[in-house]
Amino acid sequence: MTAPHLDLDLAEAVRQVLPSVRADLERLVRIPSVSADPAAAPHMESSAAEVAALLRQAGVAGAEVTTLGNSRPAVLGHRPGPPGTPTVLLYAHHDVQPPGKRADWDSDPFEPTERHGRLYGRGAADDKAGIAVHLAALRAHGDRLPVGVTVLVEGEEEIGSPTLAQFLQAAGHRLKADVVVFADSVNWSAEVPALTTTLRGGASVTVEVATLRHGVHSGLFGGPVPDALTVLCRMLAGLHDERGDVAVAGLARGHADPLDLTGSRLRAEAGLLEGVQLIGTGSLTGRLWAAPAITVTGIDAPPVGAASNTLIPAARAKVSMRIAPGDDPIRAREALASHLRAHAPWGARVTVEPGALAAPYARRADGPAYAAARAALAQAWGSPAVDIGAGGSIPFVTGYAELFGDAEILVTGVEDPDTRAHGANESLHLATFERACLAEALLLRNLAGRATS
Ligand SMILES: [Zn+2]
Repeated sequence: MTAPHLDLDLAEAVRQVLPSVRADLERLVRIPSVSADPAAAPHMESSAAEVAALLRQAGVAGAEVTTLGNSRPAVLGHRPGPPGTPTVLLYAHHDVQPPGKRADWDSDPFEPTERHGRLYGRGAADDKAGIAVHLAALRAHGDRLPVGVTVLVEGEEEIGSPTLAQFLQAAGHRLKADVVVFADSVNWSAEVPALTTTLRGGASVTVEVATLRHGVHSGLFGGPVPDALTVLCRMLAGLHDERGDVAVAGLARGHADPLDLTGSRLRAEAGLLEGVQLIGTGSLTGRLWAAPAITVTGIDAPPVGAASNTLIPAARAKVSMRIAPGDDPIRAREALASHLRAHAPWGARVTVEPGALAAPYARRADGPAYAAARAALAQAWGSPAVDIGAGGSIPFVTGYAELFGDAEILVTGVEDPDTRAHGANESLHLATFERACLAEALLLRNLAGRATS
């Protein structure tokens, strides 16, 4: 056990570094590092250079900007720990989502602004605050860092990490660690910290329906002759049953701790319109984290403005599916394709083109690094952490887990339910941020006693 005065020292050290870390976070937010915008490439460069410089100042001497082919710039660095101590990989990303319409923001998205205990700005939470948390933990330990650290700050997370798999392969042994701290997720509330222990995977298809060799006059042929768009709509309508559960057979479905998620909290967070019902059955967390979900994300058909009285010969739709932890993405995608083919009415021609896959993720969350993290979070927040799932996939987590099966992966974060990552008025809850900084400093201290693998 560690003597209590050491905790007090560490808490004091975190308090002392916070103003400088906050200033550095604000400087990073001012750089519009939008990975989706080719015109922002120079900002991506300066953002990466700034992150590398901050890490070097924080004692990660070899931190430098690295690219693979034409990937967006990432930052990678390593600082060895005392002999016999574990290596901890600290992950965050420095790219951000596009800001969207300026009019939807109450202040300039790239000018960090504090209001009512929150810091507003694109990337103020997702995920430049993740970088700042790592900086805080490193600075608080100063030259007495109790573990080795490798820091990876990715530059293309917000565009789906297209070159990450290659990067993981290429960087290989340089990324090997005993424990990973992935600081890009959400807490259960501003008062209750969370560890994200499961992720849903994904699979998508594009379905095309054809009924006619060419478009024909709806007045002359409508009635006995079916149009492709109506056929497509009937097929899409069959993807859910009357209660709103996914109707595709053969998909896995698991359980999740219901926690205290209420329908009204979910309605508010999602912005669901009054009178519109939540769909499906089972606990809400189970539906969000451990059950399949199907959404139609696009349809190719004539736009309403160009609509004429014509029976449409062909139409297509993109169908996107989330799959439960434990399910197999290839099998799940085939189940979706079979369902669509089997539910085409009136002999319509159907082609299903397979789309992208993402593996789900679920690992045991009871190893020694989890114990170290739970102790650190409970101490920093004054409230024990809950285990949550995430509805979406995280390419780094699944990719890293595939490559380094032995590492314990801790998915932490600074976001809270009001963060609005990716939306207008994204913000960081500053008290949550302070707790996250202290928790990570305590975590590194707690991990120092863990044996290397
Ligand atoms: Zn993120």
